[in-house]
Amino acid sequence: MSKRDYYEVLGVSRNADKEEIKKAYRKLALKYHPDRNPGDKEAEEKFKEAAEAYDVLSDDEKRRKYDQFGHQAFQGSGGGGWSGGGMTIEDIFASFGDIFGDSFFGGFSGFGGGGRSHNVNRGSNIRVKIKLNLSEIINGVEKKIKINKYVPCSTCNGTGAKDRSSYTTCPACHGTGRVTRVTNTFLGQMQTSSTCPTCGGEGKVIHSKCTACHGEGIVKEDEVVTIKLPPGVVSGMQLSISGKGHAARRGGISGDLIVVIEEDPHPDFIREGNDLIYNLYVSVPEAILGSTVEVPLVEGRAKIKIEPGTQSGKILRLRGKGIPDVNGYGRGDLLVVVNVWIPSDVSREERKIIEKLASSPSFIPKDPDKERTLFERMREYFK
Ligand SMILES: [Zn+2]
Ligand SMILES: [Zn+2]
Repeated sequence: MSKRDYYEVLGVSRNADKEEIKKAYRKLALKYHPDRNPGDKEAEEKFKEAAEAYDVLSDDEKRRKYDQFGHQAFQGSGGGGWSGGGMTIEDIFASFGDIFGDSFFGGFSGFGGGGRSHNVNRGSNIRVKIKLNLSEIINGVEKKIKINKYVPCSTCNGTGAKDRSSYTTCPACHGTGRVTRVTNTFLGQMQTSSTCPTCGGEGKVIHSKCTACHGEGIVKEDEVVTIKLPPGVVSGMQLSISGKGHAARRGGISGDLIVVIEEDPHPDFIREGNDLIYNLYVSVPEAILGSTVEVPLVEGRAKIKIEPGTQSGKILRLRGKGIPDVNGYGRGDLLVVVNVWIPSDVSREERKIIEKLASSPSFIPKDPDKERTLFERMREYFK
């Protein structure tokens, strides 16, 4: 079965903002909510489809990837997205139950007899900073990092119990993790559903705890995580890898690993979006007579021509020698800013030549239109 376009699913345009996306999702989620459509398989599918679309389009990074690669972006273990392929109703409530607000759940009787009861525990997210140099940013890179984090206890399989016989179904909630209370109000009877206080929503009670994890179901361990970073990332950008954060206590949902990009400044280049700026110094004779000079690239070097009569502040654009766009929209340029080197210390002989030039007519500044400042030129380029 081919997947529908996420924008089409939510019925929004491709440039819809976050608020529109949230609104559209909320509307669909309420319409196809399992509580309103008990036993309706089609509604359930629609509900899941909308949640999946919302998960991607509400997350800047995932949305960018989707815009670029479509559904392909989330196939395999690319990190992020629904890498497991499809999700359960429980996942949906664990991820964005908050979108419905309390009023929504208050209005309905819990949720389908405890659909989301067992997954009240959620592991914390882990944030890591990754420092990248320019050539890693240009080419994209795979980084392996060691993270000390909570993982499910292997002795008890994450249950926290000593063995199979050491936990029983919670007598207070009969395993659903939620208790429903009926109260009489002047409007009539009202049902309120809340987390079971006896088992803390886990649905079971442990009699003897696993000794390896002291009943928590998780232990701290080092894990090596491979992180694939696409070309063109920017300092401060965050990539979220779902399920790679801390494991949750006793079989909950793992948190996410959030990777924050940090760019190592380059000694030669200043980054401006996807463009790179390089300050080139040429001698006075080179600027007047013209020459061919070499400039560094992030990888390798390039020869560029300085035309005779080049003013200080002139910008030469080397197309496609900048940074690839993270969304795949081409590649930035290298902007070479020409600076004419004025020596501050000259020999007696040099002084004589320069004094001669000083009175020579070609050396008197003219045509003020061409004498725009470097600042103005820069501004023009970045407009
Ligand atoms: Zn254990
Ligand atoms: Zn209970």
